[in-house]
Amino acid sequence: LAKPFRKAQPILEKIAAHGYSVYFVGGCVRDFLLHRPIGDIDIATSAKPDALQNMFPAVIPVGIEHGTVIIRHEGESYEVTTFRVDGTYSDQRHPDAVTYVQSIDKDLERRDFTINALAMDLEGNIIDLFNGRHDLNHRVIKTVGNGEERFREDPLRIIRALRFSSQLGFTIHPTTIEHILKVKHEMKGLAVERITKEFAKLFAGDFVQQGLAYVVDLNIYQHLPVFEKAPSLIQQLPKKIQPLPYFHEVLVLFHFLDRTIALSTWVKAWKCSNKHKNAASVLIRQLDELQTNGLTPWLVYQLPESLYNGFIRLVNCLCSEQDISLEQLVQIEQTLPIQSRTDMQMNGRDIVALFPRYKKGPWIEQLLHRLEQQIVAGQLPNDYYTIKEWIRCNPPAIN
Ligand code: ATP
Ligand code: MG
Repeated sequence: LAKPFRKAQPILEKIAAHGYSVYFVGGCVRDFLLHRPIGDIDIATSAKPDALQNMFPAVIPVGIEHGTVIIRHEGESYEVTTFRVDGTYSDQRHPDAVTYVQSIDKDLERRDFTINALAMDLEGNIIDLFNGRHDLNHRVIKTVGNGEERFREDPLRIIRALRFSSQLGFTIHPTTIEHILKVKHEMKGLAVERITKEFAKLFAGDFVQQGLAYVVDLNIYQHLPVFEKAPSLIQQLPKKIQPLPYFHEVLVLFHFLDRTIALSTWVKAWKCSNKHKNAASVLIRQLDELQTNGLTPWLVYQLPESLYNGFIRLVNCLCSEQDISLEQLVQIEQTLPIQSRTDMQMNGRDIVALFPRYKKGPWIEQLLHRLEQQIVAGQLPNDYYTIKEWIRCNPPAIN
């Protein structure tokens, strides 16, 4: 067994020792056979959630109503799902009812694509009921069973097909494409959060160009938030796009398709967190700064280090004439005279003390901001008396 599997082995052994059948399943088996880095290890078993809760001390009932719990083991989390068949998805979000089954066969049958319907036992034997290995070798995405029915059951699988294409560089089987085209209008009922989650993975994929080509060619964008109302936006997607691992970078890309559509419109429509919104808004401001003033110390000063790589990726996608490297950003960062406002030798209280007769007001913040810019640009030494002298020569405008 490969290392990530070995780490989870004690969990499977314990479940097996209690007389249940148990397998590694889904993405981890697929990625193992593809020699790709293995992400989460998912486990499927005939043991029901309550039996698992009795077996293990640390069980988190994350999705217990559809038979999924998380088992913590040596600092890792493992999703353990009881073999089940799904009921219908009448709300297109959750299966209405879940029926537990005794064998892995039925459980594999409910899975979306043949390459995801693979299981592996503790000896490393692969269970492959739908020719998933054949499709892995031919690099093709194909539904388990009749695609039209499977997509109707849960139209999110349409987006998942494109997302796997983007991650793996696989093509979608022609019959599966036909079925996508038949059912895609039913995507309108999907919960936006589910769409966003899959799209985040699509944009992060190594073959994002290919995934997006399907989004465009199969007219999937006509059923996506915002794009459905402004379909021409999709034509504005940059030709030279690279994988964007964080969704705030995708938000920036979206916003740059048409500057008249506010960032907040995208954030609301795609139901993104404030964290993503804030990071996107910092990136947008600094990309604008780059366009107007170039790569200045002031730009680097305002860009948190955690956004350096994202900034470079976006420059590559959006500003084809610019070329910026991480080394450049780091080099500028290292020569900045201050890292933040708290490093300034003069603060708001000092300024108030310099002008005892002036009423407090926005002028203080404006002056601080000017000082900060001067210091960061290297035009004013960060020294109290020098700054005081500068203020004497450039007195604040107070009104
Ligand atoms: P990743 O490496 O990105 O996590 P994954 O294959 O593990 O890829 P998940 O979304 O984590 O994808 O789902 C785990 C498994 O559950 C899939 O491999 C698939 O077998 C099954 N699955 C997930 N979502 C669906 C769905 N909507 N319909 C059918 N099967 C699904
Ligand atoms: Mg997974």
